[in-house]
Amino acid sequence: MSEKIYNIAVIPGDGIGPEVTSSAVSVLKAVSEKFGFKLNFSEYKAGGCAIDEFGIPLPEATLEGCKASDAVLLGAVGGPKWDKVDASLRPEKALLGLRAGLGLYSNLRPALLFEELSSASPLKNVSNIDILIVRELTGGIYFGEHGRYMSEDVLSDGSSKGTVAFDTESYSEAEIERIVREGFRYAAGREKKLTLVDKANVLESSRLWREVAEKIAPEYPEVSLDYLYVDNCSMQLINRPETFDVIVTSNMFGDILSDEAGMITGSIGMLPSASLGAPGTPGMYEPVHGSAPDIAGTGKANPMATILSAAMLLRWSLDETKAADCIEAAVKQVLKDGYRTADISSSHDDKTINTESMTLKILESI
Ligand code: NAD
Repeated sequence: MSEKIYNIAVIPGDGIGPEVTSSAVSVLKAVSEKFGFKLNFSEYKAGGCAIDEFGIPLPEATLEGCKASDAVLLGAVGGPKWDKVDASLRPEKALLGLRAGLGLYSNLRPALLFEELSSASPLKNVSNIDILIVRELTGGIYFGEHGRYMSEDVLSDGSSKGTVAFDTESYSEAEIERIVREGFRYAAGREKKLTLVDKANVLESSRLWREVAEKIAPEYPEVSLDYLYVDNCSMQLINRPETFDVIVTSNMFGDILSDEAGMITGSIGMLPSASLGAPGTPGMYEPVHGSAPDIAGTGKANPMATILSAAMLLRWSLDETKAADCIEAAVKQVLKDGYRTADISSSHDDKTINTESMTLKILESI
């Protein structure tokens, strides 16, 4: 059988981005050798470093290279050096450009509590947290109509209302259907529980989400579907996090809840993510954290969020499940052996090591 070959676009970005992507690339190379497939890596610039070199955060060559790849691995973009550049040229615009250009409409954020790190969780006596948040990424209030106008109305005391600002939450049936279907699909491959989070007691758009979910549910009879209002969900994530399996929700609710769920599992340095589009198109994989300019170049960056993002890349874009399992098991083993980067070190028994040594420990475990 001929060797499988995949093309991976790598965008190291700024700050700790190059450090953590270099760790993840070495881990990807190790598993590709172990499991007998070939990865071709092509590096591209985006974010602050692209502004410095090309004057724009997302050069055409970067987007084209990503479109032509099988999957994209991204570090992080941004930093204080570019905080004062024109808003239309901010490094973060590169992320929006990549999401739009690659048609990435679904954002997967696993919140997994590693048993070995349970003391890093702000919750007491928790274990077995394994939640997958599926967030709609290209619709809703962030992309709806925005604007301001001068109101001619008055408040009850007769004073002028002044300027009014508005942002519109709007979703089409088709947009909801494709993301809810993803939610069912992931739940079917996991613990078979899907929770749709919305605000259907108030919002018409949420009521449409429920109608669409009801329509799709019979296609997945093995998956149990329930609903939670977003305010209740934010409480239940603290109260009973271990009872959730897959959560599917809109862009803004997912933005907020995925940060909350991430926090209860410990450090931001452990959280991977994936952004996916239509089947067969390249997905983008990146750690949840930013470019951490405060620790860039010090060797303190935890590479595990990016290494776990690389495992997601193998699982969801390349279907190399065994290689993905192997990386996740290696991370778990290294934690079990007591190795920690500074951000997750909590006891005197921990062996605190730097980015490079942590990468080597994971490579040894592979
Ligand atoms: P941040 O995530 O970069 O850092 C927050 C804190 O967490 C810092 O104290 C940092 O040292 C620590 N931290 C983050 N990642 C870590 C890791 N892997 N190991 C150990 N510690 C880690 O968030 P911020 O400081 O708000 O943002 C810094 C820059 O990153 C900003 O320019 C922001 O716009 C950008 N940013 C980019 C992305 C992205 O590229 N996807 C996401 C968030 C923020």
